[in-house]
Amino acid sequence: MMISEAMNKGLNDQITNELFAAHTYLAMACKLDTMGLAQMSKWFRHHAAEEHSHGMKIVDYISSVGGAVTLDAIPKPEGEYASLEAIVQSALEHELYVTKRINDLMAVAEEQKDYATRGFLQWFVDEQVEEVAIVSEVLNLVKMAEGRNLLHVESRVAKMLAPK
Ligand code: MG
Repeated sequence: MMISEAMNKGLNDQITNELFAAHTYLAMACKLDTMGLAQMSKWFRHHAAEEHSHGMKIVDYISSVGGAVTLDAIPKPEGEYASLEAIVQSALEHELYVTKRINDLMAVAEEQKDYATRGFLQWFVDEQVEEVAIVSEVLNLVKMAEGRNLLHVESRVAKMLAPK
């Protein structure tokens, strides 16, 4: 095994965090469906799939270094949100939490001179910069609409989803 027990455990916990993010974004997407915000729902579904792929990336890494993947229970996602803004605000808070957890894992890798895991985690560090930026951008759009012009938000998000 190329990684320590502590690193292995930290990475296992991160699989749960990523799958919980996927679960949470799917719950948000379903709530948005009930609010008639189809594009925002699609955007959250897309992010749910991305979070799932992040979890899988960690599963593959642990296996590739001879570690043991132990899957934990995924917490029940929050299902009740007062507004679109509350949903996007909560998504941003979750991304900031994930960023902190990735940084904590990076600190363990550095402390243990585990340069392979440090290299692996760098992708997640970069990804989090992107994630926080994009969720912040959508939150700004929602705030500008002030609960009135949500169709405008929908069309902007549709453009973000369109293949480039
Ligand atoms: Mg993620």
